[in-house]
Amino acid sequence: MLHAEGPLLSIDLTEHEAATEDVDDVLQAYVGGRGVATRLAHERIPFDADPLGPENRLYLTTGPLQLSRMSFTGRTNATALSPLSDGLASSNAGGFLSRNFAGAGYAAVELTGASDELVVVHVTDDGVEFEAVPELEGAAVSAVTEAMAERHGLGPENVASIGPAGENLVRFASIMTTDTRAFGRGGLGAVLGSKNVKAVTFEGDSAPAVEVPDVQSEIHAEAAQADHIMKRQGTTSVTDLANAIGSFPSRYFEDVRFDRYESINGDAVEAKKYKRGTCSACAFACKLPTRDEETGLETEGPEFETLMAFGGNCEVDDIVSVMKSNELCDELGMDTISCGNAVAAYLASEDAFGDEELVHETVERIAHREGIGDALAEGIHRFADEIGVEDWTVKGMSFSAHDGRTLNGQGLSFATANRGADHMYATFYAWEYPLVSQDEAFPPEGLEGKPPAVVEQEQRRALEDCGVLCRFSRGFQSEERLEALFDAEMDDLLAVGERVVTLERHFNNQRGFDRSDDRLPYELPDFEAALDEYYAAHGWNDDGTVPEERAADVAGAD
Ligand code: SF4
Repeated sequence: MLHAEGPLLSIDLTEHEAATEDVDDVLQAYVGGRGVATRLAHERIPFDADPLGPENRLYLTTGPLQLSRMSFTGRTNATALSPLSDGLASSNAGGFLSRNFAGAGYAAVELTGASDELVVVHVTDDGVEFEAVPELEGAAVSAVTEAMAERHGLGPENVASIGPAGENLVRFASIMTTDTRAFGRGGLGAVLGSKNVKAVTFEGDSAPAVEVPDVQSEIHAEAAQADHIMKRQGTTSVTDLANAIGSFPSRYFEDVRFDRYESINGDAVEAKKYKRGTCSACAFACKLPTRDEETGLETEGPEFETLMAFGGNCEVDDIVSVMKSNELCDELGMDTISCGNAVAAYLASEDAFGDEELVHETVERIAHREGIGDALAEGIHRFADEIGVEDWTVKGMSFSAHDGRTLNGQGLSFATANRGADHMYATFYAWEYPLVSQDEAFPPEGLEGKPPAVVEQEQRRALEDCGVLCRFSRGFQSEERLEALFDAEMDDLLAVGERVVTLERHFNNQRGFDRSDDRLPYELPDFEAALDEYYAAHGWNDDGTVPEERAADVAGAD
């Protein structure tokens, strides 16, 4: 089976030391990316660790294809114990970091301990250097990039950094790279902040050669030639369909449609787009560099989920205002979904939906933990009671769009995903809209027949995350192509995905997560029976835990 190559680089921030070690057995069993990071985290992060304590470890990992010329490979994985969900969380970012990370020659980088001063960690094929950067305290993401360019001649594509939100331990702070691309969900920016790391840079040309099969050229050519609306409107192209079917929340989840969606839909975003945008080596090029000529505001996006959180959920119908929220989150280093939903919850408590000025002010306050921002920075699950709103989270993670009240299988996936209410975990919504062929699709209502299908999609998404392939490669991956790409039978590839999901679940079980955490803030038909079926399809206990012998088998897989 194709897998990432290279050693694990362990960086001890307490001692300012680094060492490499061979992890070939882990690479062979887990391919790369989220799988390798999950396996290492399961072994090395104490099950009772404080997510914001020095014993938590942050993993940055690559897959086997990041130096190939194949579209959809311009991504890098990050994994740590999440300060938002309190369980293990992985998140991957696009942009151009992936080639520089892979070029440094390490399959995985592990950050442990905590520095006693604010530092930038420079990772090259020659080793590691620590640069004290007290003057960058509180700096926005673009200011960090500029400093690295001036001092070291590095580009935004060499840098993964945090903004003030990460330093201030906002529980949904992101790690940013290439200025506008986010390791968004799960608060991994706060983990970096807790370690007193402002940025990590990557540079080098020492990656071991990996032989990539010819099928990569086929996928790349198809991505280049595809006539797809995402090439013009990116993820925002789904807005009209989502609103029509009732899966575009508004007024802090009070409704499943936004009556003014046309002011902030894919057409509105496309009207502000001024050039094509992409990630490393990707001919699909779905990114959205946007500019408002009147105000001079430039950003990248907003993506569909940001339209939901800062648009529908805040009841803001001005696309430029949503662009500004997006830009603030990128600069301050916060996940737009969790931040937008937190702001929406605050607007609900203040009866202030649609107050654009208050939205932007609140985003800034959260990043700096000023006034009410200090409470909101804890995430909805922790502040909902305090401000008297409903807790719209699962495992502490606030919901993305693709509303499960309409798309019931996606609802089941929100409930059961190890990292909380996130659409990317199984992307089951795509099977219910439907965005797939009719013979694969499910009707949105009901859960009949869906639990095993959710499990299979979790396995497939986990496999993609081991290869660190973009979710939007989905339409270009037949089973034959995946088998050729990874040089393995499909059953073996799905088994890799299953191992990842099971190890994550087992880690979280040790922290107390079980069936009682696989819950939604709304009812779904036959939900308990569907949960039973879901656990059975994974081979887990009916209380939502992983049998110990199974965990031991999975952890020791080779
Ligand atoms: S499809 Fe879009 S998000 Fe995915 S790698 Fe290509 S440009 Fe990046």
